[in-house]
Amino acid sequence: MIKEIQLRLLPQQAVSEQSIKNYLVQEQGAHAKSITAIRILKRSIDARQRTIFVNLTIRIYIDEQPSDPGYQETSYPNVEGKPEVIIVGAGPGGLFAALRLIEAGYRPIVVERGKDVRERKKDLALISREQQINPESNYSFGEGGAGAYSDGKLYTRSKKRGSVEKILNVFCQHGASTNIRVDAHPHIGTDKLPRVIENMRNTIRACGGEVHFETRMDALLIEKKTVIGIQTNTGKTFKGAVILATGHSARDVYRWLQTNNVFIEPKGIAVGVRLEHPAQLIDQLQYHRAEGRGKYLPAAEYSFVTQVEERGVYSFCMCPGGFIVPAASGAEQIVVNGMSPSNRGSRWSNSGMVVEVRPEDITGSSENPLKMLEFQEELERQAWLQGGMKQTAPAQRMLDFTRKKLSFDLPESSYTPGLVSSPLHFWLPEFISKRLSAGFVQFGKMSKGFLTNEALMIGVETRTSSPVRIVRDKDTLQHIHIAGLFPCGEGAGYAGGIVSAAIDGERCAEAAMRYISERV
Ligand SMILES: Cc1cc2nc3c(=O)[nH]c(=O)nc-3n(C[C@H](O)[C@H](O)[C@H](O)COP(=O)(O)OP(=O)(O)OC[C@H]3O[C@@H](n4cnc5c(N)ncnc54)[C@H](O)[C@@H]3O)c2cc1C
Repeated sequence: MIKEIQLRLLPQQAVSEQSIKNYLVQEQGAHAKSITAIRILKRSIDARQRTIFVNLTIRIYIDEQPSDPGYQETSYPNVEGKPEVIIVGAGPGGLFAALRLIEAGYRPIVVERGKDVRERKKDLALISREQQINPESNYSFGEGGAGAYSDGKLYTRSKKRGSVEKILNVFCQHGASTNIRVDAHPHIGTDKLPRVIENMRNTIRACGGEVHFETRMDALLIEKKTVIGIQTNTGKTFKGAVILATGHSARDVYRWLQTNNVFIEPKGIAVGVRLEHPAQLIDQLQYHRAEGRGKYLPAAEYSFVTQVEERGVYSFCMCPGGFIVPAASGAEQIVVNGMSPSNRGSRWSNSGMVVEVRPEDITGSSENPLKMLEFQEELERQAWLQGGMKQTAPAQRMLDFTRKKLSFDLPESSYTPGLVSSPLHFWLPEFISKRLSAGFVQFGKMSKGFLTNEALMIGVETRTSSPVRIVRDKDTLQHIHIAGLFPCGEGAGYAGGIVSAAIDGERCAEAAMRYISERV
């Protein structure tokens, strides 16, 4: 027999399936021997009151065993000799497009400018050690895309546009913990993601698809307003329809599109800083207790949002128990972002703190579709100059920033390339710094203790979303003027985050299959 029930337990009671079973036996008189298994279906933490509860939906198996592995499997057939689709970029958008093509009997050819996910890690280590960015292998470029070395948060608001459930199942099938199907705010962790990504690549190749690393698309081949393939830096060309999933950091791709009259338009972005607090302090604030998270609770999350002078100011991509990382993808740039290991166990918690910037805020963006991108570039270069022209980043204590004071010294930080004390209030564009400062004061009122000099701002967080939209038809998902070109994922301006990029990858794969089947 199978029974599903909801429980509201103390953290120590909810810590494992065994502790839940103990609770059922001791508190609800269940028979220990007849409970053969317990599966947690949903889990969320309610920390609104002084006593913290874990809300659970569980399935109890009585005198029988679960018949599935805890997720739904997709079958991937052999696709050798099947119609081909080119995918540019092996981020979540590109990888999920490839897997969806295989599932439906098409053969993906994936080209990725960066290295495979393991080799890529060595280049990431060099950023801190040698202060150097490899422009083809960094936190943005390489197998797994921007999401590979991240917190691996898997929640999204774009539930309507596809099946989040399907994406989570595919992650589980490739080695992610089934907890991601259970938790209200699931995440995989930077230590676990590479293996999952590698398994996805193995599926693609085992089924007869191709994955080419260190192969950069340098040009689209376009004839009579139709894409017929791509040209790459290796000298090799690939022929077929193209899913363009190159992410928001492939500025050379945007420039190629602009130069070759492929229609693009400027898109609103959000820019600011990474803000880092001691994790212990965030735990104390969010769990409302001096001892912080204790033994049974995860590192606490937060989310802030407000409006200042008609623009949004908000926290973005929070990484509890995480690290701030140097996420530039080229020379003379400082870009920061955040990641966390699966146990979210570092001594710091960080988030992007950003201010919305609309195209109308940047002079010239109505004439030049690359103007928002150029604004990002200017800020990143400014941060590089302020940081000492290396990957050492400009930083300021939070309260000092709101008081327009240079920080006399800086607290210890998770950002390993190093920091330089810098007056961010002075050199960030005023329309950003003034709103950020007002936002911080408001967040400090919402959560007493959040606005503190124990917190550190590190500049600059600029890559929150794409500064360009590669405009596509809403039904066919092809570029509005060019047939056979499927702008996909975050770089095209149609996703923001791992799950929404993955969902968009699946949608673009389906659109490409329709396009091919209509032409034969
Ligand atoms: C440090 C960090 C942490 C993040 N944390 C999270 C998180 O916790 N949760 C979340 O949801 N999102 C997170 N994000 C954002 C998330 O990673 C992106 O939204 C997502 O990866 C976008 O997927 P995508 O496939 O559209 O593009 P990308 O992931 O950017 O992938 C694009 C790929 O295309 C390749 N490429 C680019 N140009 C070319 C070319 N010319 N030829 C061949 N290949 C090319 C790139 O090398 C790259 O691999 C994080 C990002 C960073 C940088």
